[in-house]
Order: sequence, then structure tokens, then C-alpha cells
Amino acid sequence: MKEANVYDVIIIGSGPIGIACALECKNNKLSYLVIEKGCLVNSIYNYPQNMTFFSTSEKLEIGNIPFVSINIKPTRNEALEYYRRVAKVANLSVNLFEEVLTVIEHKNKSFRYLVETNKFEYYTQNIIICTGFHDFPYLLNVPGENLPKVTHYYKDPHFYAFQKVFPPNKRNYKNSKMQIIRFV
Ligand SMILES: Cc1cc2nc3c(=O)[nH]c(=O)nc-3n(C[C@H](O)[C@H](O)[C@H](O)COP(=O)(O)OP(=O)(O)OC[C@H]3O[C@@H](n4cnc5c(N)ncnc54)[C@H](O)[C@@H]3O)c2cc1C
Repeated sequence: MKEANVYDVIIIGSGPIGIACALECKNNKLSYLVIEKGCLVNSIYNYPQNMTFFSTSEKLEIGNIPFVSINIKPTRNEALEYYRRVAKVANLSVNLFEEVLTVIEHKNKSFRYLVETNKFEYYTQNIIICTGFHDFPYLLNVPGENLPKVTHYYKDPHFYAFQKVFPPNKRNYKNSKMQIIRFV
């Protein structure tokens, strides 16, 4: 019988890669848990609301589960629906809104890693870190950039109409690799 909180594999992040890894664990009868700090496919959820993928939907398919879109290129909303469906159809074990804080390697024979989150502790033989890179802003180290009114995500231009906004200029882009945001 499996001990509570002990897994063959812990997967950090429920982006497309984390979900694909969970499907593989399930197909190979490994005990696993996906731990996600936000909602399912949190990075894609935070993409611009009217975003269209540049890939066609079949290129984004995982686990041989069909991804049908009404257009050649799927939208963010269609992708969110697709990944929800994959998680539901495969009945994946995903803990949402739980952030992994530390991973400590142990010499213990029964498990190799201790994974600490903001809620629990877990023990695992193997760990897959698929935290992506879209969810980590490039900070400029300037005063005020952590204020609640500063956003690192571009959602929708309407919110910024008639407001004073600071889109970084081309030089900043080059120096800081920060995304240039086009306000319409
Ligand atoms: C606007 C836009 C359009 C794109 N269009 C395409 C496209 O058309 N085709 C294509 O192939 N790719 C596209 N991409 C890129 C694609 O979305 C990413 O490559 C993909 O999401 C990467 O998947 P991932 O699972 O590695 O990481 P992510 O999707 O970034 O997932 C990482 C997950 O880890 C979670 N996480 C991070 N830290 C922790 C922690 N400490 N504890 C728990 N969870 C954590 C995050 O919340 C997130 O849910 C696009 C990207 C953007 C921004």
C-alpha cells in the first residue's frame, strides 16, 4: 500500500509539459502528483485574452487526445478548454493553487526528494520540474516595480485607455529583454 504523500514522481507545474508528463506517468502505472501554484495551465490562462496560437491545434495535442478548433489556429479559450478536458478525461492528479517552495535531496533509501509547498510536504523518488519561463517576469530592479499597480502580464489594452502607462522603449527592450507592449 502506498504511504500518504509518497510518490514515484512529483511534477512541478501544470503547463502542457507537466500535463504530458502526468499522462506518461499514468500510462506507465507510476504514482505521481502534479503540483501547480495557480490554476490549470496557469501560464496560458495569463496570456492575452484574445490570443491566437501560431501553431495549428494538432501540433499542440498531447496524449493522443484530439484538439479540434473551429479555425486553423486555436485561440487561448479553446486551449484552456482542451487542457481542462485532457485533465478530466485522464482523471489526472493535480493539486492546484499550491506553490512548491523547496526541493531537498535526501539520502533516505525509501525516497530521494523532500518537496515542500506552502501547504504540505511530499516525498518522491523522482522529480520533474516543468515550471516554464513565461510565468517569471524579467525584473528591472527599479523602485516601485513590485507595487500592485505594476503588471507583468499583457491581458487587454482597454484597461489602460486614458491612463499614464510606461511601455518600455526599444533600448530598454534590448538591454533588459523586457517585452514591448503595443497599446492600441
Ligand atoms: C503569447 C504566446 C503565444 C504562444 N503560442 C505558442 C504556439 O502557438 N505554439 C507553441 O508551441 N507555443 C506557443 N507559446 C509557448 C508555449 O505556450 C510555451 O512554450 C508552453 O506553455 C510551455 O509549457 P510548459 O509546460 O513548459 O510551461 P508553462 O506553460 O509556462 O507552465 C509552467 C507552469 O508551472 C507553474 N509553476 C511555476 N512555478 C511553480 C512553483 N514554484 N510551484 C508550482 N507551480 C509552479 C506555473 O504556474 C505554470 O502553470 C506561446 C507563448 C506565448 C506567451
